[in-house]
Amino acid sequence: MATVIEVGLSETQRQIVDLTREFARTRIEPQAAEWDRTRHFARDVIDELGRLGFLGMTVPEEYGGMGLDTITYLLALEELAAADAGVAVTVGVHSAIPATMLLRHGTAAQKERWLRPMASGERLCGFALSEPDAGSDAAALRTRAVRDGDQWVLSGTKAWATNGGTADLMVVIARSERGICAFIVPTDAPGYRPGKPEDKMGLRASNTVAITFEEVRLAAQHLLGEEAMGFGYAMEALDVGRLGVATQAVGIARRALEHSVAYCGERKQFDRPIREFQAVQFKLADMATRVEAARALAHAAAARKDRGEDITQHASMAKLFASETAMWVTTQAVQLFGGYGYMRDFPVEKLFRDAKVTEIYEGTSEIQRLIIARELYPRAE
Ligand SMILES: Cc1cc2nc3c(=O)[nH]c(=O)nc-3n(C[C@H](O)[C@H](O)[C@H](O)COP(=O)(O)OP(=O)(O)OC[C@H]3O[C@@H](n4cnc5c(N)ncnc54)[C@H](O)[C@@H]3O)c2cc1C
Repeated sequence: MATVIEVGLSETQRQIVDLTREFARTRIEPQAAEWDRTRHFARDVIDELGRLGFLGMTVPEEYGGMGLDTITYLLALEELAAADAGVAVTVGVHSAIPATMLLRHGTAAQKERWLRPMASGERLCGFALSEPDAGSDAAALRTRAVRDGDQWVLSGTKAWATNGGTADLMVVIARSERGICAFIVPTDAPGYRPGKPEDKMGLRASNTVAITFEEVRLAAQHLLGEEAMGFGYAMEALDVGRLGVATQAVGIARRALEHSVAYCGERKQFDRPIREFQAVQFKLADMATRVEAARALAHAAAARKDRGEDITQHASMAKLFASETAMWVTTQAVQLFGGYGYMRDFPVEKLFRDAKVTEIYEGTSEIQRLIIARELYPRAE
C-alpha cells in the first residue's frame, strides 16, 4: 500500500523491514486486540524479538547487537508500532534510553556485564526517571542514593516506569549528596518493589508500574558513568528516546490511515463507496500527507544523529509533530468509520487510545515546545 515506505531503502533496510513486518503480521497483529483487552504483557513475543536481535538494534556488533543506523532502527520500530504500540514501546524504551546510556557512559566492564545480554535479548531493561511529584520537572526527583562503604543504598518511589514490573534490569535516576546519578539496578535486588500494572487508556500490552525502592543495596560498579552526571546522561538518551516515540506515533498513524483507506473503499452510503465523496478524499489526503511529513521529520533527525550532530531540538520537533499527527490522524480515522469507529470491534478506536500517550511521555508536547523554543536562542540562555 502506498502508505508504507517501499522505495529508497538499502538492501539491509529492506531485509529489516520485511523481517519485522512478517513478525508483526504473524506474531503480533493476530493477538493485539486480545492483549489490549486483557492487559497482557507478551513476554514470549518480546523474548522471540530478542532472539531475532530486535533488542540489540541500536547496539554495535562488538557488544552483540545488530549495529543498525538510526533510520533503520526507526523503520523496524514503525512496523512494530503499526502492529501494536505496546510492543513497540517495550522494545523502544529498552533500546533507546538504557542502551544509549550504557553505550555512551558505561565502563568496559559494565558494557560486558549488562549491555551485551541486553543486546542479545537475554535481559530486558527499562528506565525510571519520573516520580509522583517530578514529571515535567524531572530534576526535582527525590529518590535518594546514599553511599555506605563500597555500596550505594537507593530509597524512594518512581512513577509509571515502562517495563518496571517485567524487566530484568532498570536504569534508575537518583540523587546523591553530590548530584543526580544513574544506576543499573537488577530487578531481583532485595527491596526493589514494583507496584501493580497500571490500568491504562492505551498501550495496554506494555507494562507500566510505580516502583518503590526500599533500601536497595548496590555494589559500587552499579553506578553508571560518573557520580552527579546522571541527569545529563538521561537527557542525552531522551533525545534518542524521542525519535522512538515519534516513530511509534508514525506507526500508529500509518495504520489508522491504512484502515481508513480500506474502509472508505468498501463502505457504501448513498449507493456509492464513501471514498467517492470529496470531503472523504480530502480527509484521507491530509492524513496521508501528515504521516509522510511526520516520518520525514523523524528520519531527518535520525540522519543528523548518525552524522554525530546534536539532535535535541530536532528530536523534540519530530516527537511533537508526530505525536500530534497521530492524535489528529486517529481522530479522523474514527470519524471516517462513523459509529463503527466508536466500537471496540473495529481497530481504529484502539489506535486512537494508543496515540494519546505519545503527546505525554518522554516529555509532554508543552515541554517539547519549550525545548524547541529554547534552542532558538542558544546563546541567550
Ligand atoms: C504510559 C506511560 C509510560 C511512561 N513510561 C515512563 C518510563 O518508562 N520512565 C519514566 O521515567 N517515565 C515514564 N512515564 C512518565 C512520563 O514521562 C510523564 O508522565 C511525563 O513526563 C509528564 O509528567 P507528569 O505526568 O508528571 O505531568 P506534569 O509534569 O504534572 O504535567 C501536567 C501538565 O502540565 C504541563 N506542564 C508542566 N510543566 C509545564 C511548563 N513548564 N510549561 C507548560 N506546561 C507545563 C504538562 O505539559 C502537562 O500538560 C510514563 C508515562 C506514561 C503515561
